[in-house]
Amino acid sequence: MTMSQPPDNQIYDLNMPLRSPVGSLGRRLVLATLMFCLLFTVATVAVRTWFAWDNNLSNMKSELQLIDQVFQGTLSRAVWEMDRDALQSQLDSMAQAAPVGRVELRILRAGRLPEVLERKRAPEEGNAPRVHRNLTVEPYPGASEQVGEFTIVGDQSLLWKRLWKEVAIIILTQVIQSLALAGLIMGMFNRSVTVHVQHIAWHLGRLSPANLRERLSLERPPASDDDELQLLEVGVNNLQDKLADYIERQHQDELALAASRDRLADEVEARTAELRAANVRLHELSLHDSLTGLPNRRYFDEVKIIEFQRALRHRQPLAVLMCDVDFFKKYNDSHGHAMGDDCLRTVAQTLRKVFARAGELPARLGGEEFAVLLPGASTDQAREAAARLRRALAEQQLAHGQSSVSPFVTMSIGIAQLDPDTMDDFDLLLKTADQALYRAKSQGRDRVVV
Ligand code: GH3
Ligand code: MG
Ligand code: MG
Repeated sequence: MTMSQPPDNQIYDLNMPLRSPVGSLGRRLVLATLMFCLLFTVATVAVRTWFAWDNNLSNMKSELQLIDQVFQGTLSRAVWEMDRDALQSQLDSMAQAAPVGRVELRILRAGRLPEVLERKRAPEEGNAPRVHRNLTVEPYPGASEQVGEFTIVGDQSLLWKRLWKEVAIIILTQVIQSLALAGLIMGMFNRSVTVHVQHIAWHLGRLSPANLRERLSLERPPASDDDELQLLEVGVNNLQDKLADYIERQHQDELALAASRDRLADEVEARTAELRAANVRLHELSLHDSLTGLPNRRYFDEVKIIEFQRALRHRQPLAVLMCDVDFFKKYNDSHGHAMGDDCLRTVAQTLRKVFARAGELPARLGGEEFAVLLPGASTDQAREAAARLRRALAEQQLAHGQSSVSPFVTMSIGIAQLDPDTMDDFDLLLKTADQALYRAKSQGRDRVVV
């Protein structure tokens, strides 16, 4: 498994991936095992001690019976013969045997009180076993006479000594056995469970969306297939796979969403641009005359105020031309309304050509009436411009069948110059130009009047 650097907030540090946590499962298991072994040892020691005690008792009894068998014959004879030296030495010998605590001999004689001889080594008798024997002799064949009786009592301190020795051995073996068992359990649990659980915890601790495809792999012998740890390993890997798939799908969805959002934004932008262009076009249409394409009255009204105020502010001249096609009604009558429209277009084109300088504004006010705004133009310059217009129109040579002043289409032009002292409104200037135009008409048409 490849190892990458984990973030700081992870539970397990990569530098010590397999350290023992404080509340180790193995340690708890060992403590429980030791506890159980302790109780088991106490019970076992109690039972085994009881049997050992019992066994010791019967062993000591057998030893005493053996001594009894060895000495009973010689002792009977010594009593019968009243060989006191032999009696003393036999009693001493018996008393010196290891299991013997006390030896008592009663010598019975007819008509006398029994004589008691005793050897005592152990101060206490307590539960020590004892062997009692009647001493008989056969003075002649077929006759049996009791000459005495003797009792051998076991040595209780020896009994206890033997018991303690055995108990010590029992306790020692039980403790060794318990410790060995606990060690074995600890070792096996650690080897087969703890290290793997720690590895799983370490693996889970360092997981992040970036390394979800790194699989959990427990280093275990192949024979350990299909146990709980194997199930856990498979489960963790399955979960990781599902999580990784989910995150990948989510990422793809986010990308698709972002792409469609971008597409939508582009589309909105394109539509907005189209709408803006349409608005601009609409605005232009609303400010221009549809027949001739010249600025219309609205446009003229907007600009005239700006130019009027600018001229007043800067004390600059401002001239206005009012132009009207002569006998246009008759032109319509003789050439038709469509030809009339064409004629108006040509007149407009001429106006545009003549007044093409910056600031000059030719506009169609309505019907066959046109106005030209000439900012900065003196009266002479305006007059000269009007003459140029008339010349340009004449050059077009638009035939007019019913004009009484010319065989071609002509126009009358009235000029007015701004007088900043008397005119405080543009319409006064326009009215003055209109009056000049009226005079041009009444003086015979096809002329310029200032
Ligand atoms: P005057 O010399 O005194 O100006 O005479 P006029 O006939 O030109 O003047 P009048 O005002 O009597 O007639 C204007 C005519 O212009 C009337 C109308 O039919 C025509 N007219 C107005 N607008 C249009 C238009 O858009 N197209 C066409 N073909 N004719 C128009
Ligand atoms: Mg007119
Ligand atoms: Mg006219």
